[in-house]
Amino acid sequence: MSQATTELMPRPRRIAIIGAGPSALFLAAVLLEKSTEPVSIDIIDRLPTPYGLVRYGVAPDHANIKVVISTFKKVFERDNVRFLGNVHFGKDLMIEDIEHFYDAICYAAGASRDQRLNVPGEDLGGSISATDFVMWYSAHPDAAYGSQIHETMATAIPRARTVAVVGAGNVAIDVTRILAKSVDELRTTDIPDYVLDVLAKSNVRDIHVIARRGPAQAKFTTMELRELGEIPGVDVVMDPSVLELDEASAATAAASANIKRNMDVFRSFAAKSPTGAPRRIHLHFLVSPLEILGDDQVAGMVLQHNKLDEKQSAVPVGETESIETELVLRSVGYRGVPLAGVPFDERRFVVPNEKGRVLDASGKVVSGHYAVGWIKRGPSGVIGTNKADAVETAKAMIEDLPALPHCAEPDPRAIDALLRDRGVRAIDWAGWLDIDSREIEEGRKSGRDRVKLVAFSDPPLSEYSP
Ligand code: NAP
Repeated sequence: MSQATTELMPRPRRIAIIGAGPSALFLAAVLLEKSTEPVSIDIIDRLPTPYGLVRYGVAPDHANIKVVISTFKKVFERDNVRFLGNVHFGKDLMIEDIEHFYDAICYAAGASRDQRLNVPGEDLGGSISATDFVMWYSAHPDAAYGSQIHETMATAIPRARTVAVVGAGNVAIDVTRILAKSVDELRTTDIPDYVLDVLAKSNVRDIHVIARRGPAQAKFTTMELRELGEIPGVDVVMDPSVLELDEASAATAAASANIKRNMDVFRSFAAKSPTGAPRRIHLHFLVSPLEILGDDQVAGMVLQHNKLDEKQSAVPVGETESIETELVLRSVGYRGVPLAGVPFDERRFVVPNEKGRVLDASGKVVSGHYAVGWIKRGPSGVIGTNKADAVETAKAMIEDLPALPHCAEPDPRAIDALLRDRGVRAIDWAGWLDIDSREIEEGRKSGRDRVKLVAFSDPPLSEYSP
C-alpha cells in the first residue's frame, strides 16, 4: 500500500468497553460486524480473566451453559480487539484517561452487589448473600481461600442443619441445588477443592426456599426448576394448596409458556410422597422474612404470611410463623454499583441511559458514553437476553460514531505505556490463554474440565504483561 493511500484511510475509531462479560462481548461482536467505520476495541476488566458472570456466575454444574465462551473467544481473536485484564476502571484508569485515549466508551460492568432484605437480623453471622455464595463456589478471586467470604462459609456451612434461601429466582435455585447435592456429585465440576472440603463437612438436611409471592409469580425458568426434582437423595416438598391460583394468577400462568410449564413441575412435586431421602427441599410460597433471629449467629426466622393484591404484589395477611434455621442465603437479586465519574441512578442501581446512550442528571445525553447489559437495564434475563440489549446499544454507537470528536491519543500503545508507568500489570489475550491452558492442564490431573486459578501472582503477573 502506498504512503498516500495509507494517509487517506481514516484511523479506526477507538472504543473502550468496561467489563468483559457477556454483554460486553455481544456488543463488541455487533460493532465488529455492523460498524460502517473501522473500529479498534479494548475490552477492559478489573479481573485478569474474561467472560464475567459466565465464568463467575453460571453454576459449576451447568457447564453446558458455558459453551457460549467459544463464541466470545472469536471476538478476542480479531486483530482489532484487545483484552486489558487486571485493569480497574476508577482506580488504575480514570474516566479522564479513558476520554483521552478513546473516542467512545461503553460501560458493561454488570451488577455485582446483592440487594438487601432490610429486615432486623440481616447482618447476623450465618446470614449470607447468595452473591457471596456464588462467588465462593465459582472460585472468584475476591472469595478465594483465606478471604473473608471463604472464612464465613467455612464457619456457617458445617454448623447448619437447616437453611433458608430467600427469593424465587434462578440464583435461589442454583444455591439450593449446590447445597442439596452430595459433594461427590460436585467433584467433577470446577468447584475449587477448598470449597469442596467445606461442602464435605455440610450437615444440611432441610433447605427452605422462601418466596414472597405465589408459584405463578416465581421467576424460575422451567429447566432449572425441574432439576431440583432430579437430585439423587433429595425430596422436594410443597403444599399442594398453593397451586390453587386466584383469577389473576391463573391468567398470568395461562399467558406464559414458562409459567405454565413451571406449574406442571410444581404439580408433579406436590403429587410426590416424600421417600425419606436424607435431604429435603421445601418450597414455600406467599411468605416473606420479617426478622432473622439469633444473638450473634442465625438461629431462626420469623415469616409473615402474604396474599396477592390486584397488582399481584405481596401484602401481609397479619399472620406470622417462626422457623428454625442456622443459615440464611439472601437471594433477592443483584444490583449495580456506581462507577467513578459516571452518572448513576441510585434508585434503580443502573447507569441512566436512553437506548444505551448515557444520560446526565438533567437527562441530557453524555456524548460518546454508552451502557450495555445489567448496568444498563438492571439484573434481568438469561445470558442470551444480553444479545438484543447489545444490538440496541451498538445501534446507538454506530449511528453516533461518525460525528463523535476524535480523542487526543488514539495509539493503543500509549495506554499500555500509561498502565506500565502506573505499575498496573495488565493481562492481555495471550496472558489469558496462558492462564486458560494452565487451568485446563490442572483440571486434567483430576478428571475435570479445569481447576480455576484464584491467585494470579504465581507465575508472576509480569509474565502476562502486554
Ligand atoms: P430474580 O430472578 O430477579 O429473582 C429475585 C427474587 O427475589 C424474586 O423472586 C423476587 O420476588 C425476590 N425478592 C426480591 N426482593 C425481595 C424481598 N425483599 N423479600 C423477599 N423476596 C424478594 O433474580 P436472581 O435470582 O438474582 O437472578 C438474576 C438474573 O439472573 C435473572 O434474570 C435470572 O434468570 C438470571 N439467572 C439465570 C440462570 C440460568 O439461566 N440458569 C441462573 C442464575 C441466574 P418478586 O418477584 O416478588 O420481586
